[in-house]
Amino acid sequence: MERTQRTPGTGGTPDGMGSILSAGQTYTAEDILKTIPMQEYIAGYRDFGRVRGYCHECSRFGTCWACPPYSFDEEQCLRRYGTIDLLATRITPAGGTVLTREVSEEIIRKERYRLDAMLLRREREAGSGEDGSGERGCNSPVRAFFAGTCLLCPPEQCTRRSNAPCRHPKSIRPSLEAMGFDIALTASDIFGIPLQWASNGNPPAYLTLVSGLAY
Ligand code: SF4
Repeated sequence: MERTQRTPGTGGTPDGMGSILSAGQTYTAEDILKTIPMQEYIAGYRDFGRVRGYCHECSRFGTCWACPPYSFDEEQCLRRYGTIDLLATRITPAGGTVLTREVSEEIIRKERYRLDAMLLRREREAGSGEDGSGERGCNSPVRAFFAGTCLLCPPEQCTRRSNAPCRHPKSIRPSLEAMGFDIALTASDIFGIPLQWASNGNPPAYLTLVSGLAY
């Protein structure tokens, strides 16, 4: 299992949105890589019916091009790949940072920009990257799966709401969860990092993102 750790600075987000992190508030992000056969990941961690049920309850279902329902068969798409690199990113607050909902959203956005760019670069290096969430993307020799929904436009402005083409089709990818994988089980069982949520008014001690790169 490979690990890399970085301590990001504070400041504005890459899309120009202002930062709500004050001076001195920061966090560490540790990336942990685990490579497993795709067949093993499907057999042990995919529960399509149950996980897709969660998608049905989300406001982005059918209103975001990066989210389900898709124009391709998810299982056939996954079975074109022999191996998957799973990347867990554990985000731990530092410098007095408290993971309120707003702070968590900002940190996740920053880390998603970093992770998504890194995964897309890996795709490009392998000659992939032409189609974000459609059938053609499943023919790519390397295919990225992001750690959540699309963050490129405000949700209410996604063009899927008006059935118009995506503004950034080369930059969107399905999430692992949208492909039917149990992310809580992935995080706890493969990486030893149980997911945490806020409860009873107490913020989580850390945040976890799980991305993937199939090939
Ligand atoms: S880039 Fe914009 S239009 Fe495309 S899926 Fe994301 S939110 Fe929707």
